[in-house]
Amino acid sequence: MEKLLYFDYSAFLLELFLICSIVMRKMYSNKVNRFFLILVTVTLFTTAMDIAAVALDRNGEGFVVMKYIFHSLYLFLHVVVAFFYLVYVLLQQDMWYRTTNKLWKIVVLFAPILSVGVITLLNPLTDALFYFDENDAYTRGWLFLSLYIVTLYYSIFIFYRTIHFRKNTDAMRTVSMTLGLFLILAASLVQLMLPHLLMDMFALAMGLLFMFMMVQRPEEVLDPDTGLNNLNSYVSDLRCSSANKKPETIIIIQFTNYAAIRDMLGYNDAVNFKRFLSKVILDNLARDKIRAEVYYIGSGCFRIRMDMRSLDKAELLANYINDYFRKDIRYNELVINLVTVVCVVRMPEDISETTLLRAFENDLTSSAYTGDVLYAADLYQKKKYDLLSSIDIIIDEAISENEFEVYYQPIYSIRQKRFNSAEALLRLKSKKYGFVPPDIFIPAAEKNGAIHKIGDIVMTSVCQFIGSDEFSGLGLDYIEVNLSPVQCMETDFAAHMIEIVKTNHVKPDQLNLEITETAAGEMQNAIANNINALYNAGINFSLDDFGTGYSNMQRIASMPFNIIKLDKTITQIDNNPNLVIVLENVVKMIKSLNMKIVAEGIETKELVERFSEMDCEYIQGYYYSRPLPKKELIAFLNTYNQTANV
Ligand code: C2E
Ligand code: MG
Ligand code: MG
Repeated sequence: MEKLLYFDYSAFLLELFLICSIVMRKMYSNKVNRFFLILVTVTLFTTAMDIAAVALDRNGEGFVVMKYIFHSLYLFLHVVVAFFYLVYVLLQQDMWYRTTNKLWKIVVLFAPILSVGVITLLNPLTDALFYFDENDAYTRGWLFLSLYIVTLYYSIFIFYRTIHFRKNTDAMRTVSMTLGLFLILAASLVQLMLPHLLMDMFALAMGLLFMFMMVQRPEEVLDPDTGLNNLNSYVSDLRCSSANKKPETIIIIQFTNYAAIRDMLGYNDAVNFKRFLSKVILDNLARDKIRAEVYYIGSGCFRIRMDMRSLDKAELLANYINDYFRKDIRYNELVINLVTVVCVVRMPEDISETTLLRAFENDLTSSAYTGDVLYAADLYQKKKYDLLSSIDIIIDEAISENEFEVYYQPIYSIRQKRFNSAEALLRLKSKKYGFVPPDIFIPAAEKNGAIHKIGDIVMTSVCQFIGSDEFSGLGLDYIEVNLSPVQCMETDFAAHMIEIVKTNHVKPDQLNLEITETAAGEMQNAIANNINALYNAGINFSLDDFGTGYSNMQRIASMPFNIIKLDKTITQIDNNPNLVIVLENVVKMIKSLNMKIVAEGIETKELVERFSEMDCEYIQGYYYSRPLPKKELIAFLNTYNQTANV
């Protein structure tokens, strides 16, 4: 039967169109995109061979050698396309490394395609694949079916990979890759049954076009200004390599003051400046001939992902980049001073999971700026980022499962020689994660709004304690409760607190509310109104963590604090004579304002004595007691009071 070439011609045009689009849209910036271009090019070449072979069959009497070459190339390349499609899927899932890391895996992957190569090469001698009969007509040989078997073998491989490792890519890609595969398989089957139709190359071209539109979506994976991979590809690539347990080095480059520079430059110049930054990074890679994926993930943040084997190169590169950006940069007559954070992360040694890495990256700018290259190994405390990455869920669960407990740390009055008060400190014991420190959950709760509920839990629990019979015999004048500035911003906060106090029959002077120094320094109207309302209702206030912020003494003096709490960072005066002088004067100044002083974080007898010499009346710290659960506090104070009275 006469072979129909229409499908092949259409396939050829489609593939040509695809190649032009890829090249014109510059979609070869990463290895997956580059490989897709190779795949389409090989397919185009295969189609060309098919057309040439059929043309020779019709009009090429006598050109036996040429006929053999074109038919052989067509048949072999056809299987190569299936093999390359598999490689493309593996690259897409970042699976190449895991599929080739053992000898047997390499054999499983390469043996079939190599066998087809050998069979094709030997075909002129064996006639096993095809031959030309006495009428010079193309005839399939006894091994012809092996081509289909190998294609099927790779298709099953692709199908298995796509489905089994679907978590490595998004759902859209999985569906598209599977559909593309089915399209190709169906066409192959038709081709096997109806050889004269020659429609398999057309179906393949359609499959690739489909992939081009659905999977290779440049606008979703590339940053339009720099042409680098964007946040989407960063997250999905990380997910892949982490699922594959592929060891990698990641260089984090963040320009902390990028937003300010962008605003200063204006839109057009800012885009050019971003391109300039990207060029500096790419030039550094090119100079050292380093193979890596570079990403621009927004807000002045670049990432470089490279193979673990290039760790030494990565460290050198990080230092080059850091040194370059540390100097003043001349850009369009301007001198720009960038604050650059460069950090080297080894995955999975330093950080094992993508979510943890993202939490680490978000937190990176909060660590002190040193100007040197940072190493995640030094910075990363696994537990902390473990917790940070799921802190919202932990807090939600803690609220619904009652996992919060208020502890109390007693405060000693040197003059009265007794524990006159205690500070309520919240503890979170998560069933899943164990103990979660307040330094982690309080800031998170402030961000997600849970602090209001948490504040209520603490206040209610403290008021119930004060209102109970157990409390009256303990000799405590009041309990100190920490307030978050976020709580105090609610307009009806004061009224709400007063209601809890009244319901539990607590006298207002049995409470002392602590506000941190930083919050007091940036006092807004709403906060000040709430504080004044609570103060007018008879509740006293302490200024917490004094010495950690920039004290605005004038403002502090104008607010109704009757206690100043010296933070533990300034009470640790052991070997620092200058600090002692500063502290002595601070204590004098606070006393002259008629405020009481609590020294926090006192761990030794020696320090108790020194503060007592400074006439600092109240002491809080591990020297006397750690924060205790309510029951233990009661036992502790009862025992103390009994022995003190003897
Ligand atoms: P803070 O209010 O300054 O509390 C004092 C912190 O110092 C407590 O840490 C306490 O355990 C610790 N500390 C006490 N004595 C010593 C000592 O001798 N040595 C050392 N190294 N540390 C000592 P904690 O309990 O981890 O609380 C940390 C911060 O979390 C608190 O600092 C407070 O700002 C916040 N916080 C705790 N509970 C609450 C709460 O119920 N609400 C709010 N808004 N914040 C809370
Ligand atoms: Mg406090
Ligand atoms: Mg404090």
